[in-house]
Amino acid sequence: MNKDSNPDWRDQTEWLQDLVTELEQRIKIYHAEPDVELKRNKAAAYMGSIAGHLQEIPPFKGTDLLVPFKDLLIFIHSLESGSGHPWAKPNNFGGTNSETVAETEVRIWIVMGVWSLLEGGYRKNQAYKYMANAMTESGRTSKGRPFSHRNVQRWWLDYEYQRDDRLAKVQGHIENYWAEMPCPHGQLMFNCKSNGNGIRCANWRLVAEEFASNALKVANFRDWFVSR
Ligand SMILES: [Zn+2]
Repeated sequence: MNKDSNPDWRDQTEWLQDLVTELEQRIKIYHAEPDVELKRNKAAAYMGSIAGHLQEIPPFKGTDLLVPFKDLLIFIHSLESGSGHPWAKPNNFGGTNSETVAETEVRIWIVMGVWSLLEGGYRKNQAYKYMANAMTESGRTSKGRPFSHRNVQRWWLDYEYQRDDRLAKVQGHIENYWAEMPCPHGQLMFNCKSNGNGIRCANWRLVAEEFASNALKVANFRDWFVSR
């Protein structure tokens, strides 16, 4: 196979150089990522780049040779968006609390949302309702019905009273996220002069509301998490 017999295929040297350049960039990002779960996202992007380039080559066009790549990428995307995926079902030997990684991630974002609203002056019940509404609006219903704020309340209390080991990493997520969160004044949410004392941004409540309502709508939690 060469370019003469496959005039549709762009120059092989250019194709190869393009792929190598892209992978060189992605491997740097991959190595530099300290968070093990964010690394998963970077690995998916790396795989996607290879698959995308292979797909350009004539023998791959119109075949199913790249389907496993796509299935894996869909799987990873499902983990990140919290939409659930059969491959994510844990091996469960009789436990009653089985939950997929993706479901746990949704809980973490819900708890983060409640936390930021409470910090912004919401009462607990208001915050539960706000997040339940955000869940429903993002298409995550409870057996076809609007998501109940009671579920949000249960998750929050499990977190608050440290009853659930799966939520143990929430505090780290919250701290990392808000420590680096820029504020509307070009400073940081935890270090802003807008309120006169140089500690908390005066716009906290508004930013918290925006964060809480958008957290569950974003298709790719992880990229958003890093790039904000
Ligand atoms: Zn500010």
